[in-house]
Amino acid sequence: MQHKIQHILDQIDERKNELIELLKTLIEYKTPAPPARNTADAQKFIADFLEEKGFSIDMWDVYHNDPNVVGVLKGKQAETYKSLIINGHIDVAEVDESEQWDVDPFIPIVKNGVIIGRGAADMKGGLAGALFAIQLLHEAGIELPGDLILQSVIGEEVGEAGTLECCKRGYKADFAVVVDTSDLHIQGQGGVITGWITVKSNQTYHDATRRQMIHAGGDLFAASAIEKMVKIIHGLQELERHWAITKSYKGFLPGTNTINPAVIEGGRHAAFVADECRLWVTVHYYPNESHEQIIKEIEDHILSVAKADLWLKENPPTFIWGGKSMIVDRGEIFPSLEVDSEHSAVKNLAKAHYTVLHKEAIVDVSPTVTDGGWLGEAGIPTAIYGPGRLEHAHAVNEQLSIDQLIEYTKVILMFIYDWCHTKRE
Ligand SMILES: [Zn+2]
Repeated sequence: MQHKIQHILDQIDERKNELIELLKTLIEYKTPAPPARNTADAQKFIADFLEEKGFSIDMWDVYHNDPNVVGVLKGKQAETYKSLIINGHIDVAEVDESEQWDVDPFIPIVKNGVIIGRGAADMKGGLAGALFAIQLLHEAGIELPGDLILQSVIGEEVGEAGTLECCKRGYKADFAVVVDTSDLHIQGQGGVITGWITVKSNQTYHDATRRQMIHAGGDLFAASAIEKMVKIIHGLQELERHWAITKSYKGFLPGTNTINPAVIEGGRHAAFVADECRLWVTVHYYPNESHEQIIKEIEDHILSVAKADLWLKENPPTFIWGGKSMIVDRGEIFPSLEVDSEHSAVKNLAKAHYTVLHKEAIVDVSPTVTDGGWLGEAGIPTAIYGPGRLEHAHAVNEQLSIDQLIEYTKVILMFIYDWCHTKRE
């Protein structure tokens, strides 16, 4: 059997032009998010591709014109052998009109050993390699004993939980690989949650009443919501510093756990005292923390800050956390993900990496976030492993090294084969 696998791996070199063409095809489908709602054709292409290779297809609209695709290749002895989810997002970062690309971002070209085009690194390269591996296994007549599930999801770039929808629909496996940009490192990640903190007065006052609410003898118990928000922001900074001092996680620079006051909205008009102020914050936390725990820490601290202010004590701030989409309800969650380097699948993936690259796989943490956290939160042991470098993701002239794409495709093929041939204990 090892001889047969070697023969298939050799084909990846011999047929690399087909792999490149497949990636080019994926890039040519324009799927930037925002604006999103543009992935239906690309998803149909992937669904048809998988169906031809014997997968049963589940395709459903998460949003109009943004369907998820899940293909399931039922294992021949699914009860006794391990199952695998390969997950990737089909949407790509937006292309701003001011970006100075050397080429049309959606007409990819090959130049100096790289493919240039939007999504090459993040993450149509990861998807193309996985699809090509599936094609080669299919053509070789390999029948996997364990289930293989490929998820092509929408909305990752705008915090839309296409992957969460797959989990809610009941898709599970013994292991999942998110083939997002990791430069072929095996990675976990920290988490991100956004939230809105609102300070609100239950009465609205004309600008002329300001003297009465801030000066001696005014006798009006009232306040500007904007000025009170300044106290909240200072409270967040205190907590941020406390976290930086007291928490750490291997692989992250100290103080990576930040609370960014990203957007502020408030007041209604110059003729009024601001009766409402809303602060949109982005919180980064470590892989061994949950967003529930982080929310509690922030709310506890900010409500304590509020208790020490005479007006905020009576008018405490309110909180709205997370959201389903940055473009629909202005909120998102990316749960954190810890990778267990002793897990048999991680060892198996590292072994495949070593066999192909003749270098030990690096197990570390991603400085960014992916959909891996949703799979982890659903109880599926998960790791991020994909081609491409983060400095190219979302960048002008986004690109992917063809050599790395080939290496990745070999590793993922070998891993699919080995893991789906591993017996359940
Ligand atoms: Zn990505």
